Amino acid sequence: MRGEAKPQPGLDASRLTPHASLAGLSKGTLDKLAKLNIASKFDLVLHLPLRYDDETHLYPIKDAPAAREVLIEATVVETDIKYRPRRQLVVHLEDGSGVVTLRFFSFYGSQVKHFEAGARIRAFGEIRHGFFGAEMVHPRYRVVEEGAPVAEALTPVYPTTAGMGQDTLRKLIVRALASEKLEDTLPDALLKQYKLPAFRDAVTFLHHPSPDVAQQDLQDRTHPAWRRMKFDELLAQQLSMRVHQQKRRGVGAPALRPKGTLVSRLLKDLPFQLTGAQQRAVAQIREDLSKPHPMQRLLQGDVGSGKTVVAAVAALQCVENKFQVALMAPTEILAEQHFRKFSGWLASLGIDVAWLSGSTKKVAKKQTLTDIASGKTPVVVGTHALFEDDVVFNNLGLAIIDEQHRFGVRQRLALRLKGTQGAQGAAGASDVSAQPHQLMMSATPIPRTLAMSYYADLDVSVIDELPPGRTPVTTKLVSDTRRDEVIARVRDACAAGSQAYWVCPLVEEIEAEDTAEDKKPKPARKPGRAGLEALQLKAAMETYETLSAAFPDLKVGLAHGRLKSEEKSAVMGAFQRNDVQLLVATTVIEVGVDVPNASLMVIENAERMGLSQLHQLRGRVGRGAAQSACILLYRTPLSLTARERLKIIFENTDGFEVARHDLRMRGPGELLGARQSGVPLLRFADLSADVDLLDAARDAAATLLTENPLAAKAHLDRWLSGRGEFLKV
Ligand code: ADP
Ligand code: MG
Repeated sequence: MRGEAKPQPGLDASRLTPHASLAGLSKGTLDKLAKLNIASKFDLVLHLPLRYDDETHLYPIKDAPAAREVLIEATVVETDIKYRPRRQLVVHLEDGSGVVTLRFFSFYGSQVKHFEAGARIRAFGEIRHGFFGAEMVHPRYRVVEEGAPVAEALTPVYPTTAGMGQDTLRKLIVRALASEKLEDTLPDALLKQYKLPAFRDAVTFLHHPSPDVAQQDLQDRTHPAWRRMKFDELLAQQLSMRVHQQKRRGVGAPALRPKGTLVSRLLKDLPFQLTGAQQRAVAQIREDLSKPHPMQRLLQGDVGSGKTVVAAVAALQCVENKFQVALMAPTEILAEQHFRKFSGWLASLGIDVAWLSGSTKKVAKKQTLTDIASGKTPVVVGTHALFEDDVVFNNLGLAIIDEQHRFGVRQRLALRLKGTQGAQGAAGASDVSAQPHQLMMSATPIPRTLAMSYYADLDVSVIDELPPGRTPVTTKLVSDTRRDEVIARVRDACAAGSQAYWVCPLVEEIEAEDTAEDKKPKPARKPGRAGLEALQLKAAMETYETLSAAFPDLKVGLAHGRLKSEEKSAVMGAFQRNDVQLLVATTVIEVGVDVPNASLMVIENAERMGLSQLHQLRGRVGRGAAQSACILLYRTPLSLTARERLKIIFENTDGFEVARHDLRMRGPGELLGARQSGVPLLRFADLSADVDLLDAARDAAATLLTENPLAAKAHLDRWLSGRGEFLKV
């Protein structure tokens, strides 16, 4: 059956078989389960324990080990309710080896009855030796008959939510394990190849492991049963990506064949030659665009690697075919810079570039929208405004999205759908588009593991070479107490004819992260985002005042988020023309700004910033031939993570290395901007620890789809049905 390219029925994700519902439970229980992301019986099966209690062994009181919870069995000698220092139930037990006191500070009247003298009690808790002898405070307990069997497996402790007790969850899960199908979705040969246990064995073991297991292996999730769960999860992700890739091949897009007319003129006019890496990316995109299916390509390249010109070449191939291009950037400054670049490059070719942003004035906007809708505008550059409903294209052929990780999935989808609205097709173009091609760009390099998992449905081009003539940026870590020296250094650099940035960043997110991790007390009142912006603005204004006073001969500019867009573009323009030598800025300049004459960057509060943000900012310098430097000002005391981040950014100039560390330190969610992008996260697998499993899952997905589509379908059914969020749009 190998290699037979049979159609694969049933692999359409929308036709997955739904899981058994949780019918029969009360609304309250369902709500609480929903909080735990449990919506079906199978979700209960996959709700794996956080840790385990060992109730398989009865300890004599005398021999019970310290500093861990143990199970004892003893008889009640006496029970009292005491009122000092506060109301409490005190139960004295003895088991022949010794005595112990149980203490309950909250209890019901009915509970007191459990502890009649002579009753046999099994209690699970930690024994502490205090002033009154051995004690257990609030143990879990039950009344037993003599000789009642002890648990044969470790007792699972599940992640839970307020109002949902462990016992309830345990019961629900035991029932689900008994009623759900746990047969294997994967063929034996595959399990053998990757040395994985059967699904049923793995999942029942994880819920109820035998007491002889090394608990550490469960904790570290290195036990074969854990590996099976992780493998299955990764495999489901890989399969779903592939199924979507296949689906995409079934969607139409205008075939934008290279005519060469405009592209070759642009390349001839450029003051530089494309690097080898740029040429490779251009060739890959050229190929994709000429196919009648939508391209979905991620153009990845470190800051300053020259992605914009590659985007311009792609745009022209689209315009050559009389289709429209939209280029979108996440900030107004960046979008405007693209607008200027594109206008400059395309003007001499006689191609108009339109501009659209949130702050475009009503009258101008109306005209722009009319021109976009009529097809008169071949290229439009802008911000999020391009997503809005009132923007209707005549025939959108290519959507280019810069800094794609800053946009959400929904926004990218919105733009893609724009290709289908107006689509009457351009004059002469017979193949009317269903969807435009998409080119996404990112300067946050995605480590291989992420590219293989979350981005597996994208094709990726990498620009792994910087344009010639760049000198690497030197990074310096300087304590805030040595500010004066830094100011002197800025003066020298500007006096020598170069330009400098002084960045006062918004510090909200990292601060929150460090606070949690260092267990610092939370400030009584945390300023909201607006409050933080105001603080940041105040800091930037003060720095601006200080530096303006310190450098009477220099022109100092100030750029921040509260400026009107004309003001912002005026100051950025002045910096670009070297009318301003020193630019004090908040994080508005974080992405994409390109001023090659700037060779010095000072970043305040660098200890509070994320790795990728620091790398992005540092990439603003070192764009010309001059030796550039990035000075990271920090304040002590430094948290452990802050110290580690600064060390990494100091030691690494390669964006891929920085991103790798970022992934390790923060996990994929943060790196992907999952909160905005809506990318589903893996629950079990850990992309930094489980690279081998990811490799295996990728290979297995390919094999399974060709050789055993029924198994693939069964696997997707098991892992994805009812989980639409797992599927990428
Ligand atoms: P990024 O990849 O960060 O978006 P840009 O597209 O802004 O980088 O390019 C950075 C700078 O390098 C720009 O000034 C651009 O004109 C210039 N550049 C791009 N490609 C080349 C090249 N092949 N040779 C020389 N300079 C180049
Ligand atoms: Mg860029």
